[in-house]
Amino acid sequence: MSYIRCGQRGCDFSQDDWWSLTFKPQWKFWRWSSVFGYNPITMLLENSGDLLKPRWVRFDAHFARQIESEHGFKIRLREVHKEEPIQWGDILNINEKYGDIRSWNEIQAFSWSLLRWEVYRAWLKIRKMKWYTFKQYKNDPYKLCPRCNHRIPDSMID
Ligand SMILES: [Zn+2]
Repeated sequence: MSYIRCGQRGCDFSQDDWWSLTFKPQWKFWRWSSVFGYNPITMLLENSGDLLKPRWVRFDAHFARQIESEHGFKIRLREVHKEEPIQWGDILNINEKYGDIRSWNEIQAFSWSLLRWEVYRAWLKIRKMKWYTFKQYKNDPYKLCPRCNHRIPDSMID
């Protein structure tokens, strides 16, 4: 795993990680990144694999609007009315009678819609990468920032 940023004033170039295909036999838990290394695809599989199951999940409407205005990407949403009995022992409602109901509206997103967004995000990340592997980076004698064309100093790599 590695993180590079340019560091020049006014330049926001950064890239998250290298593509690595190293096999690490010491892994204890099944994780995509432990077998195929850390890269945008393994991260997508690890973080979004559960979205493959079609279902509605709670989602922040504000975040959905932000995604749409910044990327033109529409997340499929619905609003669901929810009700739940107020439980005994619920400290905030200690004076309420048992049997009272609290209700609210919840915004939900369809999991496949979120999965499409995650795939798109991974693609944005890949498109932004200049050096795909550490070896490619090491062998690049110039190490120029793809945005501002300044040489990226070694101190900008974590
Ligand atoms: Zn730069």
